[in-house]
Amino acid sequence: MEEQAKRTLAYFCPACRQMVAAERTVFQLAASANTLPCPCGKSGLRVELMGDRVKVTVPCLFCGKDHTVICSSQAFLHQRLLAFTCAQSGLDCCYVGEEGAVFAALKRLEEAVDKLDRDGGERGSFLDELVMHEVLSELKEIAQRDGICCTCGSHRWKLQVNYSSIDLFCADCGGAMRIPAATAGDIDDICCKTRLVIRGSAGEG
Ligand SMILES: [Zn+2]
Ligand SMILES: [Zn+2]
Ligand SMILES: [Zn+2]
Repeated sequence: MEEQAKRTLAYFCPACRQMVAAERTVFQLAASANTLPCPCGKSGLRVELMGDRVKVTVPCLFCGKDHTVICSSQAFLHQRLLAFTCAQSGLDCCYVGEEGAVFAALKRLEEAVDKLDRDGGERGSFLDELVMHEVLSELKEIAQRDGICCTCGSHRWKLQVNYSSIDLFCADCGGAMRIPAATAGDIDDICCKTRLVIRGSAGEG
């Protein structure tokens, strides 16, 4: 018998704050609209395949709203890991992909969720001041060595600091790059980098 390709889908339930993850075969996903309900019954992730596009509706733990995302079915069914981000908080609210990759990403997101819970709703300027501070100082070091450039060839860039991430923009072509700054793992990630390449509108990354 042919091995059925499987996808793992996961999100955090805004009602009970639990992680909800399930596995679906590519066949199940393609056959009909799928709802992935939280065991508490108060929320559910909805997936609809529409030809070469997929519409995903994710209840978001961070801002309390539902996010609707459209992506290509190719990416949805085959990419190792897809992350959907809540624009308001800058945090990921949903993952789709291979089981191992999804659970690794979830583990990191869970750390961020724990931090939010620990702060008891009292919101500072950053999700984690220390992480943001560390990531910014690493970024500064890379910048001092002129390690930030864009695929368009530009070395001029702008920086925007968000609640749990930092955005780099190419000053010439407007290309953008997001650097997460939410968990200790994000510090490790940037620590091992000597160069950051913004994927601009021209050229390949
Ligand atoms: Zn729930
Ligand atoms: Zn959101
Ligand atoms: Zn550029």
